[in-house]
Amino acid sequence: MVPVAYITGSRAFGRLDLEVTPDVLVPRPDTEVVVDVVVELAPQGAAIADWGTGSGAIALSVADLRADVAVVALERSPEALAVARRNLAAHPPLGTRVRMLESDGMAAVAGERFDVVVSNPPYLVPEDLDAFPALRHEPVAALVAGPLGTEDHERVIHEAMAVLAPGGLVVLEAGEGQAEAVAGIFTAAGFADLGSRADLAGIPRAIWGRMP
Ligand code: GLN
Repeated sequence: MVPVAYITGSRAFGRLDLEVTPDVLVPRPDTEVVVDVVVELAPQGAAIADWGTGSGAIALSVADLRADVAVVALERSPEALAVARRNLAAHPPLGTRVRMLESDGMAAVAGERFDVVVSNPPYLVPEDLDAFPALRHEPVAALVAGPLGTEDHERVIHEAMAVLAPGGLVVLEAGEGQAEAVAGIFTAAGFADLGSRADLAGIPRAIWGRMP
């Protein structure tokens, strides 16, 4: 069945009403947990990067809830970025603090420094698309990582290490059953102060770590 949000063209996410099209993932309430963690842990005046912003849900919500931060939203799909940019334009107060850039990973901000990198990366495995037919209407590039499901978590963590200030934070959304694997990637990369927070269903959804 086509997601209702693609028919109505919008979806509420936290305090925001966002335009969604089939070029972007439909924002999930689970992802609000990721926003909460960034809003709570980002230092005063933080520079924040959102890796793979899609509709802009995380970037815009964080900027909305923390008036002191500046956010760069990165997205490799030009079609998705166009949706994110319309969502930014629909929330004029955020315009001075949110930049949106076409970028494969961190490429467009390679020379910049951030205090926080946040992402809801693709984290499904290819078989999930067969198991959950409802997902077939959403952009596969936003959903499916690789055979492990955690390939993009690893990519975000390693790209983040090149742009994070010392003590910088990476906050990632994870799929059901992935919390330990994602924590293992953080630990292997030398991150400390690991934490996780569950969504309303009790599934650890936001996983984070601090760069040494
Ligand atoms: N939360 C989505 C789902 O389980 C997947 C989103 C993602 O891969 N980041 O349907």
